[in-house]
Amino acid sequence: LAKAKGRASYCFYEPSQADSAYAELVLESQLVQAIERNEFVLYFQPQVSAATGELVGAEALLRWRHPQRGLLGPDVFIDVAERHRLMLDLGAWVMRAAAEQARVWHQSGIAPVRIAVNLSRMEFRLDGFAELVAEVLRDLGVPGAWLELELTERMLMDEIASAPATLAALRAQGLTVSVDDFGTGYTSLAHLTRLPLDKLKIDQSFVAPLPNDQGAAAIVRAVIQMAAGLGLQVSAEGVRTAAQRDLLLEWGCDGLQGEMIGEPMSAQAFEHWLAQR
Ligand code: C2E
Ligand code: MG
Ligand code: MG
Ligand code: MG
Repeated sequence: LAKAKGRASYCFYEPSQADSAYAELVLESQLVQAIERNEFVLYFQPQVSAATGELVGAEALLRWRHPQRGLLGPDVFIDVAERHRLMLDLGAWVMRAAAEQARVWHQSGIAPVRIAVNLSRMEFRLDGFAELVAEVLRDLGVPGAWLELELTERMLMDEIASAPATLAALRAQGLTVSVDDFGTGYTSLAHLTRLPLDKLKIDQSFVAPLPNDQGAAAIVRAVIQMAAGLGLQVSAEGVRTAAQRDLLLEWGCDGLQGEMIGEPMSAQAFEHWLAQR
């Protein structure tokens, strides 16, 4: 096709494919060094009780202080890390950093909250993942109750054979297990009732159209009721307005997270935010 259209069109798209392959190669090699050079940092987004507004936890969100490009969010590098199997090292770093921060905050009494960690598919697939977590906690002297793990529906369904035992082993250590981005995946409802879970986090795409979108409202209310029926906690992500907060509270949502409460912040900014409340 390129040939038929002549040289100009050949040059038009060929370099862009090469560019993106090259860009990924560069990113990959920078990612390897980034761990060694300590360029990663965790940001923390507050999670509050819908009923009381009290701080109940913080979600750890990974950031990369890229030497040239500045602060990068996970969307820029998580997929590349997964494709090149760097995600296990990165995930282990996240787990440790989150547990360390939990310990610092508990010891200083600044923010004695549970820190939620996002897992990658690679980590959850790992044989002996629950033991690995136990090892980190033991190493750092951190009780499991100070951490929460967030998994997606996709991760649970992909590992449906081993997931019940892994989740049970994690919960036996006191960890809270949550399903992230709930409603966007394909969880079989039959499986949902059988998996040992603690919490559903309603995806922000259902929260964002509230309060005016009837379809979104129906879904959010249904998930809250289902969670109650299954004895699970439920929280909402991406809460941006007081109207959204009020509706979620009225419908019985337990927890809230989003810009309206607080954006993801560095640990220091989080402490400052907490002191100002
Ligand atoms: P997530 O776990 O669903 O995290 C919520 C995302 O929504 C975060 O984006 C957060 O900054 C953003 N957010 C929070 N409140 C609002 C709001 O009110 N409005 C809007 N529009 N967005 C809001 P972020 O930090 O860019 O993270 C994106 C995703 O990357 C996360 O989605 C999570 O799946 C993944 N991720 C983040 N940190 C890690 C990590 O340490 N390990 C792994 N495996 N994945 C991570
Ligand atoms: Mg999450
Ligand atoms: Mg989410
Ligand atoms: Mg997500």
